[in-house]
Amino acid sequence: MATVIPVPQASALPVAGSGDVFPVRRVYCVGRNYAAHAREMGGDPTREPPFFFMKPADALQVVPEGGTVDHPYPPKTSNYHFEIEMVVALSRGGRDIPVEQALDHVFGYAVGLDMTRRDLQDEAKQLRRPWELGKAADHSGPVGPLYPASRIGHPAGGAISLSVDGAVRQQADLSDMIWSVAEQIAYLSSYFELFPGDVIFSGTPEGVGAVNRGQTMAGAIEGLGEIRLRVV
Ligand code: MN
Repeated sequence: MATVIPVPQASALPVAGSGDVFPVRRVYCVGRNYAAHAREMGGDPTREPPFFFMKPADALQVVPEGGTVDHPYPPKTSNYHFEIEMVVALSRGGRDIPVEQALDHVFGYAVGLDMTRRDLQDEAKQLRRPWELGKAADHSGPVGPLYPASRIGHPAGGAISLSVDGAVRQQADLSDMIWSVAEQIAYLSSYFELFPGDVIFSGTPEGVGAVNRGQTMAGAIEGLGEIRLRVV
């Protein structure tokens, strides 16, 4: 049997320190998972359960470690925001995964950016429309190399930061998350059956802001290296 069109290429993230890659199935993203960021977006961090949205898997941009890659500024926005996030990659799936077992499902962790057409997201919120135009732009999910949990463990704390042209714009600690990685996996798995290849963007701390063409973003997480992207 022949395929009638070329098979679309799945995204695959490089595994740090090896020639291996991690093929991506789905990309889940958690919203408002750091208290100070929930407040800056007009939410109440104390009472809201986590909520999720998705990016298309082919919206990921693979960013090798070291050096600076070009990141295309997307069309139809004049307020394109960075959100530094830890990305969690699953090697095991399941339904209704208990919190205490959730981290056994993690392959590894990486530095990622949930790039957002904030003007389009704000308009969608106002009009009670879905978020895809704001959140799912092509290339809107830059991700660095994956660090296997078998090598680095499961980071529950550590510095997470983003700078633009050398000026620090976001700076927090992974321990500031409202919902832990284990809780996110458990919660998500009550709504969706999770599979190997699923990745989760675990939310961004406060300080999100706009970038323009010509600026360079550097995102770093303690133990997971740094990614650098020049907006073009
Ligand atoms: Mn985000």
